[in-house]
Amino acid sequence: MLQWFDTHCHLDMMPAELRLEDVIERARVAGIRKIVVPGVRGMPGNIAALANFAEVLPAWGIHPDFISATSVDTADMKPWSNIGCEPVAIGECGLDRRITVSLPRQTEIFAWHLQLARKHVLPLIVHLVGHYQQAFEMLVEACPLRPWVMHSWSGSAEMAARFVERGAFISLSGGSLRNKLKLEKLLAKVPVSSLLVESDAPDMCPPFWHGKYNEPVVVAAIGREIANILGMDIEKFAKILYTNSLKIFYTPERNLNGQQISSH
Ligand SMILES: [Zn+2]
Repeated sequence: MLQWFDTHCHLDMMPAELRLEDVIERARVAGIRKIVVPGVRGMPGNIAALANFAEVLPAWGIHPDFISATSVDTADMKPWSNIGCEPVAIGECGLDRRITVSLPRQTEIFAWHLQLARKHVLPLIVHLVGHYQQAFEMLVEACPLRPWVMHSWSGSAEMAARFVERGAFISLSGGSLRNKLKLEKLLAKVPVSSLLVESDAPDMCPPFWHGKYNEPVVVAAIGREIANILGMDIEKFAKILYTNSLKIFYTPERNLNGQQISSH
């Protein structure tokens, strides 16, 4: 069976009418083995319940949208120390041109995340809408110690290639399938060895999805669509993407649930 890795899903924000057990069971049946749950105001909400699922990998971060609503101390270099749970990544964090938080404030918080990732040798999950050049310069200057994720990429193919050259992986969501021409341009510039897939649930429903809410289960279908566009064998494609995800979220010293880095 094909295995998939959902590199971005807000399982803590799923609509109340969906049972978490059902959402994860549907994902399991479709071959989704791991689900990264990024934080938007620190650790994901409901972390105690989420930690019961072997699939869940939590990340710690403050999403640009939540900067104003979250009290932060940027001098604190381990802001999750009271939670009793270690993140697998720092994020989601980044810059967003659509919000009212000033760019200097967004930059300050993003720079703090970059430092946290370096200090704890963790990968980053970057949210970026606009401000591409500025984020690029910040990432290059911060010189991350681990590869990082440009999540639900919506920028140009050229910009994606520049990030990839510096160590980024480009994560594609259902949103990426809405503009096939743009996606084809991206796939021409970014090698499969630098691609990831994500549901970005509960947002970013893929165009083919008829469910009421987006869920991690869509990752398998998103992967299939991308492999089709590339004209690539689905087994080969799934294996490369799963290996890419392991490269980011697992290290030999830090393998979770006793798993070894491998592509099977
Ligand atoms: Zn997100």
